[in-house]
Amino acid sequence: MCAGVGRSLLPSERSERAIMNRIYLDHSATTPIHPEVREAMLPYLGETFGNPSSLHWFGQEARRALEGTRARIAELLGALPEEIYFTSGGTESDNWALLGSARIQAERSPEHNHLITSEIEHHAVLHAAADLDLKGYDITHLGVDSDGQVDPGSVAGAVRPETFLVSVMLANNEVGTIQPVADIVGRLRAKNERIIIHTDAVQAVGKIPVNLRELPVDLLSISAHKFYGPKGVGLLFIRQGTRLPSFFLGGGQEKNRRAGTENVAGAVGMAKALEISVRELDGMGARIRGLQDRFENGLRDRIPGARINGHTEQRIPGVTNVSIPGVEGESVVLNLDLRGIAASAGSACTSGSVEPSHVLHSMGVPPGLARGSVRFSLGRGNTREEIDIVLEALPEIAVRLQEISSS
Ligand code: PLP
Repeated sequence: MCAGVGRSLLPSERSERAIMNRIYLDHSATTPIHPEVREAMLPYLGETFGNPSSLHWFGQEARRALEGTRARIAELLGALPEEIYFTSGGTESDNWALLGSARIQAERSPEHNHLITSEIEHHAVLHAAADLDLKGYDITHLGVDSDGQVDPGSVAGAVRPETFLVSVMLANNEVGTIQPVADIVGRLRAKNERIIIHTDAVQAVGKIPVNLRELPVDLLSISAHKFYGPKGVGLLFIRQGTRLPSFFLGGGQEKNRRAGTENVAGAVGMAKALEISVRELDGMGARIRGLQDRFENGLRDRIPGARINGHTEQRIPGVTNVSIPGVEGESVVLNLDLRGIAASAGSACTSGSVEPSHVLHSMGVPPGLARGSVRFSLGRGNTREEIDIVLEALPEIAVRLQEISSS
């Protein structure tokens, strides 16, 4: 059974502070648009509104902005402008990478129908793989170790003559563990030149360095709203020479590879957000890690049995996934929300029962603990004071929910 919010609020919970000053610790879900990003986008939501495909002045203004943006993004990622394809976000990029690669493979050599991915991918990859499974493709889902890492040796070991695609994410969205993608690419290249390698870098970009000269994948997915850019815009990097057919049918935009009028304001915002995150990567990462250490030490001290899930070092800054014994994550999230604190549950309540996260399951976290998992994801706006408020509130909520569930 999914537990509800629990009984009525304690007086301290009703405090004006909690209601007036909400604390946002859900940056892995989405981030607020950075003021400089908003500023950069404004002209393209106003006077520079043309369609980049139009031949007239208005269109050409928009075209110039779009191509300038493409060149800037390429430079920041160590790519070529012609390798950057704008999309509507991470889901589209992931779907395009998997379904597009499968389609071209089916046309060229249908006997190559094997795809390797991991058990801990985002559903944008897992559900695309499931769709291919229904269409007769053979899918290998690799497990992870207790830190949430895929073993590069197991990826190489799973390769068969008929393998056409490997898709392993760069950083996991639930626990933040960074995957050894460069190592995986090295091993696969040594084994078989022909395999297409995709990585979902949606949670990595803006938090760890991502340079496509050093990470020789063929396809890489990015989404702007995860690093203080706008929602509904992302990109798929397609390395030169990689064959990937158009995913949408329609106009000839994006060099005939992605039909649909481009989101110029979104692309401009994504470029600015990327520029800021690259500029501030080291300083911001260190600041957020400092807050995170304070948070995690506090959790260990104040919540008996609390377990932090994910790799201790190979983890993107700011993501703390904690399992609390004897509670349900969703109830903790709802109670935190009543106190003005936003976090997210590692499990989802579906049809009256709690579905433990597929990521924690793959990591071997016992179901009872997995059900009590909450993801806190810190970001650039968070302060020590906010962390301390959460460290006061969370143990109180945990004890109260443990009492309810044991009564
Ligand atoms: N991939 C990962 C790892 C994600 O975390 C997300 C979003 O949470 C997505 C893909 C989907 O991105 P979008 O929200 O831009 O469709």
